[in-house]
Amino acid sequence: MDISQIINELGEDREYYFNAVAPPIMQTSNFAFNKVADLSKAFENEMGGYLYSRGLNPTVDILRKKLAALDGAEDCLVFNNGAAAIFAGIFANLKYGDHIVSVKAPYTWVQRMFDVILPRFGVTATYINGGKIENWEKATQPNTTFYYLESPNSWDFAIQPIKEVAALAKSRGIITLIDNSYCTPLYQKPVEMGIDIAMQTATKYIGGHSDTLGGVLCGSHAMMKKIFDSEYLNIGSGIQPFNAWLMIRGLRTLPARIERITKSTAEVVQYIKQHHKVEFLLFPFDETFPQYELAKKQMNGACGLFTFALKTDKRESIVRFCESLQHIMMAVSWGGHESLVIPKCAGIQPGDFDGSNREHRYIRMYVGLEESKYLIADLEQALAGI
Ligand SMILES: *Cc1c(COP(=O)(O)O)cnc(C)c1O
Repeated sequence: MDISQIINELGEDREYYFNAVAPPIMQTSNFAFNKVADLSKAFENEMGGYLYSRGLNPTVDILRKKLAALDGAEDCLVFNNGAAAIFAGIFANLKYGDHIVSVKAPYTWVQRMFDVILPRFGVTATYINGGKIENWEKATQPNTTFYYLESPNSWDFAIQPIKEVAALAKSRGIITLIDNSYCTPLYQKPVEMGIDIAMQTATKYIGGHSDTLGGVLCGSHAMMKKIFDSEYLNIGSGIQPFNAWLMIRGLRTLPARIERITKSTAEVVQYIKQHHKVEFLLFPFDETFPQYELAKKQMNGACGLFTFALKTDKRESIVRFCESLQHIMMAVSWGGHESLVIPKCAGIQPGDFDGSNREHRYIRMYVGLEESKYLIADLEQALAGI
């Protein structure tokens, strides 16, 4: 289906709501029945109709249809945030004694789930450099039931050969989940590449305005039903109707925002790269990126986030640079209207900072919707001060 049709029409049955162009927010907890038989049917299969908004809700369903179609997937579940989506997607597919192979340094709360929560349930994880298919093969044990991918990673943009990892998993009966937040389905469609569950945080590009949170899982209807019937209903972390409505609104402008951010990011990357105070820059679509060929092969585009390091081993200089920015804000998250930076050293105790460690010097930037020349001027004056 055409992307314009998905975004503007799919799932929107306007005749049910006075032909309003914008869909209503079905702010209701429950749905009434006239017949006991119908109520019984809803109990039997809660994913088959409207019963209670911890399960399905009509506003959320509009969003589900659009997001599934964008990903080229049969079905979709939307959660209250990305971390909840990942938690449910993984937890629904594990049992005591299982083993996970994961890319190293996955998103913070995934790492925490693997290191702190899952061991309490007898599940262990092995972290690998996921860029080479041999590493997946080598790390796979007889009890491996799950592969966790994040491509690209949101700090160093490490990527995995998605089709190959998915094919290996299929041949071993292993379930795959990928964090596709960086690309969104506009720049990468993991389900079409053979991945079982494509996840993205809707907090970032889908919402797009830094004013709400959400998380998405896409995959086969059977997989979504499996997650819905247990974790989705039990944890109760489904997205609320108002937030779903904000996500539908965000989707209307997703392609336009991604197009602009792609253009501005390329301009800001070119500026940073040539600056004499910059040591290196990491961006998947930059020719110097170590996995540039693979990135070009499997991604339709790259934008927004990139990481760079200044020619300094001093924490104070990194701090001064970040604190000197006048317009680019310092904050977690990304994908909104506002450009951001975040230094890796903020998460490292000053005594543990090691200037000879590349990663400790990472500064991640997100390019938002501002004019690129406005951002470059701000970077220029901050770089001049160090
Ligand atoms: C933000 C983020 C998440 C988590 O999403 P939330 O909506 O904040 O829970 C997961 N993966 C990546 C790469 C992220 O940037």
